[in-house]
Amino acid sequence: MPETRDWLTGGLPHIWLPYTQMQTTPAPLPVVAAQGARIRLADGRELIDGISSWWTACHGYNHPHIRAAVETQLATLPHVMFAGLVHEPALRLAARLAALLPGDLERVFFTESGSVAVEVALKMAIQYWRNKGQAEKQRIVYFRHGYHGDTFATMALCDPEEGMHALFAGTMPDQIMAELPADEAMSRAFDLLLDTHGERIAAVIVEPLVQGAGGMQMHDTATLALIAEACTRHGVLLIADEIMTGFGRSGRMFACEEANVVPDIICLSKALTGGTLPLAATVARKHVFEAFLSGDPAAALMHGPTYMANALACAAANASLDLFEREPRMEQVAAIEAQLTLELAPCRALAGVAAMRVKGAIGAVELSGPIDLHALRRRFVELGVWVRPFGKVVYLMPPFTVTPAELTTLTAAVRSVLAERAGTL
Ligand SMILES: *Cc1c(COP(=O)(O)O)cnc(C)c1O
Repeated sequence: MPETRDWLTGGLPHIWLPYTQMQTTPAPLPVVAAQGARIRLADGRELIDGISSWWTACHGYNHPHIRAAVETQLATLPHVMFAGLVHEPALRLAARLAALLPGDLERVFFTESGSVAVEVALKMAIQYWRNKGQAEKQRIVYFRHGYHGDTFATMALCDPEEGMHALFAGTMPDQIMAELPADEAMSRAFDLLLDTHGERIAAVIVEPLVQGAGGMQMHDTATLALIAEACTRHGVLLIADEIMTGFGRSGRMFACEEANVVPDIICLSKALTGGTLPLAATVARKHVFEAFLSGDPAAALMHGPTYMANALACAAANASLDLFEREPRMEQVAAIEAQLTLELAPCRALAGVAAMRVKGAIGAVELSGPIDLHALRRRFVELGVWVRPFGKVVYLMPPFTVTPAELTTLTAAVRSVLAERAGTL
């Protein structure tokens, strides 16, 4: 394939890949197309995608309904600035998100990435208190194993050991880490923390029920409800980062719903457009929005990404929501949960496996001992699947449209790669 070799050899020397030591990394795989749960490589091989392109492609790749919606939008209005001007795809999407989300989460601020959606949530929370005359409430409480993004303000809220705290020490805002209040003693400690520092705390941020990039750690609804209750009692806002869990991944449309929790602010991205175009949303409850209404221009929210509410991305998100209405997505998630539970269970008995966890369309196997990520990743490709372990976890988060046979191929690959590894330990 001379054409492929052209763009590959000409382009690779100019590309800087994410989270990658460029000196030692194996060559990235050139992709030419993707359809359903399958990624097609330039050499003709097909990989079954077990991780939905960083958890975005919930309807599979190249869904005709999303493609048609984006094509239609492209013909009339791909983009227009969103200050002083509005358009139908964004307003329809905002109204639909407000209707879908619990409680009075009803005011939508659009951005283009998850990290920025969290940054906006932080600005909202801090300025909320400033506008109410409590400017000293500026600190953010986050949880161990959390992940909220790669920008400076969000890095400061990631797990201090797994995140980039050491690398950028001294350059990030100083925030307060807490343990998830998963038992009596930890609940008392969490309560004490909010009691002691409440006057300086603007908000608590949490990934409800499943902490994703920090290691696929899971907690129960009682823990989440307890966090929400403590926030209310101590006059602290609750920010739910549902960038990973949102849109069905954890088994409900939003993880907060399962615990009957209505956060003050919620962050959405990843599966919002079904994995087609970059878009994120920070959605605030009525009382949060109202704290910004004033005769004083300085009380307004000062943020505005250039590509805010991009019309193509909003059209894709509307089409994605159509699919949640028309197709049996939540039933598919329940079926995936049952199949993952059954087919990953044998992993528990393998040497070098510390734990196995499943929730919704998320299956995670936590490893112990030395982990050769490059070797594991290479074996998965050899077995015809795209599975990309990180840290200590091998996980599956397939598109919700994955077929039972494709999912069996994925779980069988995880079992055999981990069994091979067990043999070498
Ligand atoms: C991926 C992720 C982010 C960051 O989103 P980006 O679009 O990569 O900036 C933030 N929070 C959670 C929970 C995520 O999973």
